[in-house]
Amino acid sequence: MRRPNALEVFQAGMIVLLMASAVLGIMTLSSAMAMKSRASASLEELQTFELAFHAANAIVEERAPLEADLAYTESEDRGRRELLVQLRRHTDEALDRFEQRAEQTGLGSTLNFAFLKAQLKSTRARGDGLLDITSTSYAVGVRTSVIRDMISSSETIAPMLAIVCRRIETADPGLGGKVGMVRLLASLHESALRLPSVMLPYVAAGTALPRDAQMEALRITQRIHALWDVGASQLVFGEDAGELPAALERLRSDYLGKGLPFLSRQIERAAIGNFRTMPSADRILEVYRPTTEPIAQLRDLYLGRMTMEAKDFSALATIRMVASLVLTSVILSILPLLAWNTYRQVLRPLLDFRDQILSISERRTITTLPYTGSVPQVRSLFGALQTLQDRERERIALDGERAALAERLRLLSVTDELTGLLNRRGFDATRHSGPPPSLSLSGDIALLTLDIDHFKAVNDTYGHKAGDIVLQAISRVLDTEVGLTGVVGRYGGEEFAILLWDGDLVQTQMLAERLRARIEATAVPIGEGLKPLRVTASFGIAFGAHQGADWTALHEYADEALYAAKMAGRNRVRITNRIVANWADVKFGPPAAPSKGMKAVSRS
Ligand code: GH3
Ligand code: MG
Ligand code: MG
Repeated sequence: MRRPNALEVFQAGMIVLLMASAVLGIMTLSSAMAMKSRASASLEELQTFELAFHAANAIVEERAPLEADLAYTESEDRGRRELLVQLRRHTDEALDRFEQRAEQTGLGSTLNFAFLKAQLKSTRARGDGLLDITSTSYAVGVRTSVIRDMISSSETIAPMLAIVCRRIETADPGLGGKVGMVRLLASLHESALRLPSVMLPYVAAGTALPRDAQMEALRITQRIHALWDVGASQLVFGEDAGELPAALERLRSDYLGKGLPFLSRQIERAAIGNFRTMPSADRILEVYRPTTEPIAQLRDLYLGRMTMEAKDFSALATIRMVASLVLTSVILSILPLLAWNTYRQVLRPLLDFRDQILSISERRTITTLPYTGSVPQVRSLFGALQTLQDRERERIALDGERAALAERLRLLSVTDELTGLLNRRGFDATRHSGPPPSLSLSGDIALLTLDIDHFKAVNDTYGHKAGDIVLQAISRVLDTEVGLTGVVGRYGGEEFAILLWDGDLVQTQMLAERLRARIEATAVPIGEGLKPLRVTASFGIAFGAHQGADWTALHEYADEALYAAKMAGRNRVRITNRIVANWADVKFGPPAAPSKGMKAVSRS
């Protein structure tokens, strides 16, 4: 299996990283959202509880003037009518708010507000009737029963409160205990308020506390102690509890330390009818009532703190949710950008770099794009590449020059300086190069050798320079006539050789004759005031096969024929009748064209 390259690893890594971030982000976000929705739900339930709780407390508070009335013997209006109106309005408002909230949160059908309101209404009507009557023993009885009615209104709202509390516990089990503590403090307050109303009518009337009233007072006192035992064990505050410890301390010192013992003493005295040294009923109330206030304070502080904590938690959950949303989207958008940037700035250029190095090593030319990124290390790498390419270009140019020089040298080595024809080496080498592809060939080659007749005399008579001019003129004639059908070379001195690619006997003879005639007819100008020179040449011809003809033998036979031509009187063409190795199928016959003497020569 192929090992993945670094780029593929990088891409795969980036995809995995992106997916992991997405999954992690979604997980964080969903947990933050769950936390937020839980916090919102518990805060909402807590707010409902607050409204219910205020309504319940308002109903308890509404009893106060009536309870206070029990302590007075005179029926004077001490502003209690206005106080009652105020308290009732307060209760109604609190109840309306609670009801409204219950409607909104789907509790409306569960909670029977109509019954509670009807109960309150009838109790209030009975209470109103009592305001104008003097406190008699009859009135005490009626007042006590009206207060009992009020207490049952409190008991009617209690299950509603319990339903709301259960919803809090469902929304956030952690809040259940705290709500329980608030309710405990509320019960403690309620019991503390109820306790004097059990004995005050008798104190006011100056009659000893009957047995059932004693029992009731005892029961309430025990309940207060029981509630306190439970509450005190749980009311342990941390450092940041604010005013709560101070309020708890006030409850302990004011109510439990002073108010409750004071009232208990009065209840004991009233039980045995000892009114002599006892304060009046309204005095008792005056002393006792304020000591109950720390209970309500602690209760309200505790609830307020709880609501505040829930709000803080909800805000924290919102922050967490927004933060994880922002963080996730930032990570998810930065990662691809980062990957793309790394790819563009480093990986892609490095791949280009690799391609360019490869093409330099393979001597391929490619267009180099300069590095446009901003990574200094990669930039310097591209700088080095540029230097390498410049060197390579110089080297290629140098190689070119060297090759041209070598070619020139090669050409020089195979060219005859005087005539521009191939020299002997060049001519011999052509037997390997083969004919031009455009020629149609018969399968044989012909070798013609020719030698200028009496050339020594030309030199001797007109000088070496004139001889050179003649050699050049003869060369031009040969080159022009032979053209592409063969190769002409100066074989040495005033000897030339011609290789014909198509060694057709008749055609070759005709060409040789033509050459001979052209040379004979050519008048070579050799200088101002001198008569143009005319020379003749003798020709020898030998044939061989394209493949495998023995070159030396071919030359030898052509030279034999040339010698024969010289011997026969010069200025003529002779063909050998000897067969070169592998040279077969020579069509001997009479020459096709007339000549001064064209004969086959045989070795003597
Ligand atoms: P034959 O008809 O028997 O061939 O007589 P010939 O005079 O041509 O033959 P010979 O071999 O005696 O003379 C050849 C002469 O060619 C001798 C030499 O001076 C002359 N020669 C050889 N090379 C050159 C050259 O490059 N330039 C000139 N001007 N003369 C040359
Ligand atoms: Mg010669
Ligand atoms: Mg000669």
